Amino acid sequence: MKRTLVTGGAGFLGSFLCEKLLDQGHEVIALDNFYTGSRKNISHLLDHPFFELIRHDIVEPILLEVEWIFNMACPASPIHYQYNPVKTVKTSEMGAINMLGLAKRFRARIMQASTSEVYGDPLVTPQTEEYWGNVNPNGERSMYDEAKRFAEAATATYARTYDIKTKIVRIFNTYGPRMQLNDGRVVTNLIVQALNNEDITIYGDGSQTSSFSYVDDTVSGILALMKSDKYDVFNIGNPNEMSIKELSSVILRLTDSKSKLVYEDLPNDDPKQRRPDITKAKEHLNWEPKVDLDCGLKLSLIHISEPTRQAEISY
Ligand code: NAD
Ligand code: UDP
Repeated sequence: MKRTLVTGGAGFLGSFLCEKLLDQGHEVIALDNFYTGSRKNISHLLDHPFFELIRHDIVEPILLEVEWIFNMACPASPIHYQYNPVKTVKTSEMGAINMLGLAKRFRARIMQASTSEVYGDPLVTPQTEEYWGNVNPNGERSMYDEAKRFAEAATATYARTYDIKTKIVRIFNTYGPRMQLNDGRVVTNLIVQALNNEDITIYGDGSQTSSFSYVDDTVSGILALMKSDKYDVFNIGNPNEMSIKELSSVILRLTDSKSKLVYEDLPNDDPKQRRPDITKAKEHLNWEPKVDLDCGLKLSLIHISEPTRQAEISY
């Protein structure tokens, strides 16, 4: 049993992580400032004897005696991380430093949540952990992608300087129940549009690709990495790459929707291709995703009720 801190514990991934950690017998402290997270995501855990929730902003230091730290706090969708960009930079950078300082003080094992966005608009595919990326250092996504690169740099520097046990997980696009329906990301946008028979917004010509991982798979990869004796960088995602147009066909089929495709401008610095190379995770963590897209989308759809859909789509 490890005394474990999950920052961003009331968020999409963080809440599933808290749940799995409790199931596996750990003591969990979820820390969140509720910027994009919600008590609703963890309401079923609040009475658990080994669960504690703290309202705190990781931009400010905190002292907690813990053995494991998952630093998950940070908005993840482009519209959320661009909404208050300075806050996003502070969360990723000062938040990472504060959590690394905590790890140093208590000799805790720490995992920093990074992202496929550190590969930017990648020039190689699939993306291996060795690829350094193609990132616009001051572009409209830089408050997120460059700040996550800083968090990686800080993590590696603390590990080398203070000999603390660190891990970096580069998470690829993840979907599932509890994702926010107004987060502006492609899976949620397309599901909500399809369910309401509204136009499906395809940015650009829809030939850009992404790879979508079901939340259970992503969280099991994160846990496998934390438990392993590897102190390194790992991609966690589903290599099942598809174009956004292909994704829209799957969603239209599963929802039996009458929606039509409409084409809108591609956002600046939008990546043209995303596909994780997960050889390293397969070899060293004995992990690979198990849930295919049809199954994962069906599991997500059953959690989206009519009133929720209507109430949550306006941001
Ligand atoms: P989310 O927005 O649902 O969760 C983030 C949580 O962090 C929220 O509960 C939010 O309130 C909290 N938070 C934000 N700023 C904070 C601060 N300053 N102090 C304390 N709490 C703060 O997003 P998510 O999808 O669960 O993402 C979790 C992590 O995984 C993030 O670090 C994100 O960058 C990373 N990630 C997610 C994806 C994905 O597809 N979901 C992909 C790549 C990386
Ligand atoms: N996208 C789209 N329509 C939408 C939302 C997103 O075509 O309504 C595209 C977007 O341009 C990008 C891809 O889907 O190429 C994945 O975007 P998302 O925001 O889901 O993820 P991220 O950019 O964070 O990987």
